[in-house]
Amino acid sequence: RMTRLRARLASSGALGKALLSVFARGDLKASDWEDIEDTLLSADLGLEATDQIMEALRTEVKVSGNNDSERIREVLRQELLKLVDLNADRELHLEPGEAEDGQKQAAAALVVGVNGVGKTTSVGKLARILVAEGNQVVLGAADTFRAAAADQLQTWGERVGVEVVRSDKEGADPASVAFDAVKHGLETQADVVLVDTAGRLHTKGALMDELGKIRRVMERGTQIKETLLVLDATTGQNGMAQAKVFAEVTNVTGIILTKLDGSAKGGIVVSVQKALGVPVKLVGLGEGADDMAPFDPESFVDSIIA
Ligand code: GDP
Repeated sequence: RMTRLRARLASSGALGKALLSVFARGDLKASDWEDIEDTLLSADLGLEATDQIMEALRTEVKVSGNNDSERIREVLRQELLKLVDLNADRELHLEPGEAEDGQKQAAAALVVGVNGVGKTTSVGKLARILVAEGNQVVLGAADTFRAAAADQLQTWGERVGVEVVRSDKEGADPASVAFDAVKHGLETQADVVLVDTAGRLHTKGALMDELGKIRRVMERGTQIKETLLVLDATTGQNGMAQAKVFAEVTNVTGIILTKLDGSAKGGIVVSVQKALGVPVKLVGLGEGADDMAPFDPESFVDSIIA
């Protein structure tokens, strides 16, 4: 997994290389420290994390100088590991439960995010992972605003070998499709129901109403155990502002960070976790069905500073 992440990340090793080239300049002047700061900020680490890393690097240079690139790299590595947070719970909690009548109750997951971030693709890839782990999965196409969205999910369903519950009516109530998906999951004794939602950029109030209604109807049949927010790593700080709105209106339990294969700015992992207070659980590493992996902090940090 580590080599795959390293190979796929557009920034493979870039942050480490860029920083070490500044440290190699010899006596560090104020302008060199500014270059170090710029390098950290341009990796999308965010201001707070950048300050924290700068502080640790300044201390290291004060104590041991800047001739030993291995030590500098190690300080950077340790700071990034702290920032990424090794203790965060990155498991997907999608074990089925038991209904009052003793029947198996599928665990439900809601997948939310702005259009174009890779939501439908992520639902397909996640279904594939869950199926590979032995789960019976049902997909719900609750993005009813674009007819193409349900077709796209259907294609994923066929590819991965899982059933897709959808409405033939464009503009149907997304909550009613989500309800039908949960119902079908219960009837077929499925393990997991994954619901893809619409990602229109509405007002905050409208988004809250729509997701709130979807949640309420789904929870009549089962428990929503995960709400996964999909975020496109290539959109940087802009994408983050939109992501924050989702986190404010619904109880997000994990982040799926997509298109990490096309981003030179791996630091987004740190800034998004800080901004939303939610761990990155999965990363998207390409357009193919197998291009998703659980987020592994250590291999991630190694891959950006290698
Ligand atoms: P949605 O509108 O959020 O449902 O987004 P889609 O699932 O339709 O994805 C939008 C585009 O992003 C498609 O062309 C996907 O193939 C592409 N995509 C999704 N995830 C990834 C990823 O991890 N890496 C890359 N390179 N492309 C991705």
